[in-house]
Amino acid sequence: MANQEDIFKKVVSHAKEYGFIFPSSEIYDGLGAVYDYGQLGTELKNNIKQYWWKAMVQYHENIVGIDSAIFMHPKIWKASGHVDAFNDPLIDNKDSKKRYRADVLIEDHIAKIEEKIKKECEKAHKRFGDAFNLDQFVSTNPRVLEHQKQIDEIHGKYAELMNANDLAGLKQLILDLGIVCPISGTRNWTDVRQFNLMFATKMGSVEGENDTLYLRPETAQGIFVNFLNVQKSGRMKIPFGIAQIGKAFRNEIVARQFIFRMREFEQMEMQFFVRPGTELEWFKHWKKERLNWHLALGIPAEKYRFHDHEKLAHYANAATDIEFEFPFGFKELEGIHSRTDFDLSRHSEFSGKKLQYFDSELNENYTPYVIETSIGVDRTFLAIFSHALKEETLEDGSTRTLLSLPPVLAPYKAAILPLVKKDGLPEKAREIMDALKYDFMLQYDEKDAIGRRYRRQDAIGTPFCITVDNDTLEGKGVTVRERDTMKQERIDIENLRAYLHEHIKPIQVR
Ligand code: ATP
Repeated sequence: MANQEDIFKKVVSHAKEYGFIFPSSEIYDGLGAVYDYGQLGTELKNNIKQYWWKAMVQYHENIVGIDSAIFMHPKIWKASGHVDAFNDPLIDNKDSKKRYRADVLIEDHIAKIEEKIKKECEKAHKRFGDAFNLDQFVSTNPRVLEHQKQIDEIHGKYAELMNANDLAGLKQLILDLGIVCPISGTRNWTDVRQFNLMFATKMGSVEGENDTLYLRPETAQGIFVNFLNVQKSGRMKIPFGIAQIGKAFRNEIVARQFIFRMREFEQMEMQFFVRPGTELEWFKHWKKERLNWHLALGIPAEKYRFHDHEKLAHYANAATDIEFEFPFGFKELEGIHSRTDFDLSRHSEFSGKKLQYFDSELNENYTPYVIETSIGVDRTFLAIFSHALKEETLEDGSTRTLLSLPPVLAPYKAAILPLVKKDGLPEKAREIMDALKYDFMLQYDEKDAIGRRYRRQDAIGTPFCITVDNDTLEGKGVTVRERDTMKQERIDIENLRAYLHEHIKPIQVR
């Protein structure tokens, strides 16, 4: 596959062609940045959620999960700061009439300079071959150093302006950097304005002053307002966590890049409540835990990196993103934030209810501090799906499209394929399928030649194909073909369940 744009196009079309993701309301020409998950996408998405839930809730005795309502009391969003400050700085190009996020324009500009550094490194690598030392090169090459200096200067300035909420300064920075609109190619920009990202709606049949509700822009607040309910009913002792998976809504200004930035999406969030003063240790702990969760899927570590925030929210005392290398570059996949006691204190203040914890070891009441891990389901889907999609040239010169999904997440764990549609093979295959289908999602397929059926399973990410042939009828087991290596081995029918269980686990659990 050629360049990054082509890869991305292929991702979008493959997702649609095989029933993973469809544009919402497609027969009505779609709805901006809203998508529907199809029959295979739903399976993959559910598996992502289950993998997260198991890692967070099932594996940690001190983390429990809840499912709070999307509608919440309007005061919650006042207390959380979302009504007053959940804004993005937007800017319009007067010629193309296109709207952009000012911060994203600047980040994209920085990404272009990073791309130049990458190119320099690749060039040098080719020139020096095996003798190439990347660390030495980036710390001494004058062109790389110059690019890096530029990046650091822009980062510094940008952080300063964002912290000071200096909108005029942001516009000036865009002009100074010579950023042009990708559509019109001009620098004819409007002023930068703030835009609140929450969707508002009404509750009840009579309109009044205080009946405006917001669709939640994050799931976290549902956890904070239930802090005492969970702590008391579950007799939870600090440190402990509350996890939640659910829909969130944001009226994103620039909704592009497929399911990377949607207006309706899903989050998996966990708030971990700790003793004040211990939060930075826990922050470090969760950084490591969460990265391990990603790596256990078997995706190479180079695809991930931490990006510490330049602009800390006023309530946070540490924050980092886990970024992933999407087909359009490194972008945020997950946020890990040390949120101090901000949320619980604000809800105490706004509700008039004391949200504190009595620590029997210290014999003391306090408002717990919070470490949050927050990851988008859809973004995780895109990261995994785009990394998994490959086009391979085989030894005989033919190509195959391969969706090399981590087995634990694959929609179907195995396909059951009778070699031919006669001689009692379909019946035997069905028998095997019936014995295993309570444990695993399986697909039965008897149409077309076996090679074509393998290709079809490769394209939807099925890690194993189980072929039933005449030897099977003689008690000589089945052939199990592994998707990525295409290696085949003979397995006894009674060992299939254990074989599949063993091979679909995430790598760090095996
Ligand atoms: P960004 O800077 O990309 O807008 P954010 O910093 O606002 O993201 P958070 O508020 O930290 O994001 O949300 C936590 C996670 O939720 C993100 O890491 C991302 O995976 C996911 N997420 C946030 N906004 C969206 C969206 N519009 N569409 C899909 N996923 C999203």
